[in-house]
Amino acid sequence: MESRYTYNPSMPLVVQKYGGTSVADADRIRNVARRIVDTYNAGNHVVAVVSAMGKGTDELLSLAGDVSQTTYPRELDMLLTAGERITMSLVAMAIQDLGVPAMSLTGSQAGILTTGRHGQAEILEIKANRVREGIEEGHVVIVAGFQGVDPDTKNVTTLGRGGSDATAVALAAALPADLCEIFTDVDGVFTADPRVVDDARKLDEVTFEEMLELASAGAGVLMPRSVEFGRRFNIPIHVRSSFHEGDGTWVKEETMEQAVVRGIAHDVSEAKVTVYGVPDTPGVAASLFEPLASAGVNVDMIVQNVSQDGLTDISFTVPSASADLARLEAEAVASAVGARGVSIDDTVGKVSVVGIGMKTESGIAARMFRILSDEGINIEMISTSPIRISCVVSQEAVDAAVEALHAGLSVGQVSVS
Ligand code: ASP
Ligand code: MG
Repeated sequence: MESRYTYNPSMPLVVQKYGGTSVADADRIRNVARRIVDTYNAGNHVVAVVSAMGKGTDELLSLAGDVSQTTYPRELDMLLTAGERITMSLVAMAIQDLGVPAMSLTGSQAGILTTGRHGQAEILEIKANRVREGIEEGHVVIVAGFQGVDPDTKNVTTLGRGGSDATAVALAAALPADLCEIFTDVDGVFTADPRVVDDARKLDEVTFEEMLELASAGAGVLMPRSVEFGRRFNIPIHVRSSFHEGDGTWVKEETMEQAVVRGIAHDVSEAKVTVYGVPDTPGVAASLFEPLASAGVNVDMIVQNVSQDGLTDISFTVPSASADLARLEAEAVASAVGARGVSIDDTVGKVSVVGIGMKTESGIAARMFRILSDEGINIEMISTSPIRISCVVSQEAVDAAVEALHAGLSVGQVSVS
């Protein structure tokens, strides 16, 4: 069967991204190929970004750990990018089996230029000529997600876990595409994690701003950086299931209704570090957080207690994966400034409520605190943005907190009073 289409500049261009679960085995890869071909036959040019098959990235990481106890960032990136290369070539084969021309490209071949920071590289620019040429030759182009190349050193880099989302949205912005579809193993973005809240609902739409807050607060469905690209270049993102045809969630600039609370996110992957008895003098916070920043530790919430006798306690949260590093840095600073000591608590969790309508509706924080108090849940730290309120609570209370807040806060309503 020959393909019915060749290049037609008036046809829409769609970037699709398929995550690991959607390409986990040969059958699913053939299913993905069929969806791509359906999109192509419906009259769209398609560029598809793919992730490593199933838990492929985790398996490569553990293989590296079996071979060596030392982390070699350059070689680790080289290794991890192999996961996406396996998928891209298999998908390109399955598409050609269906009679449609297809070709695969690595991130570097696709012109994805990044900083040199291995494991956490940022996309600087996409020179998408080769992708465009592929499309103009009438191909479906498959691009390996999560990877790029540092143009100065020519080293291959990766974009951080979940990075294929960023590849897809950035590529959609660079081409430019008319639309970016993120195909995943859930039906879309939910009002809360459906594994925790039975009556969590799929959202039809959510603003970039809200999605950025939800994703940064632990909603794993999209990588935060991909949402930033979407917002910056105004690329609407459709998050949808790869297993059925139904509509998912649209992430876009504006939504029809401005919910006061759009959704609730939670995160149990943070740890709380407390530095005790820090002299309360100018410059102490800087001397604590500067070395953490240089060490690449991503600090989330910070709370400084009331000072007594010239001494204060400073607590902050970091990703659990950086907790050991954060403790080492904090201990060095503590002894340098004469603080009493450092403790670390890995059993904390964070619940966040997010909604664009909070900008105009007051009293949400008070309602949130009352609901948590009625559940007997103690709040350890609080932080806010204009459209988000987050509380750190004990990890074992997180599920109960999410359920109670979902039930008590009229999630999705334009007014909560
Ligand atoms: N395969 C990478 C990961 O597991 C990138 C991605 O799936 O988006 O994090
Ligand atoms: Mg993902």
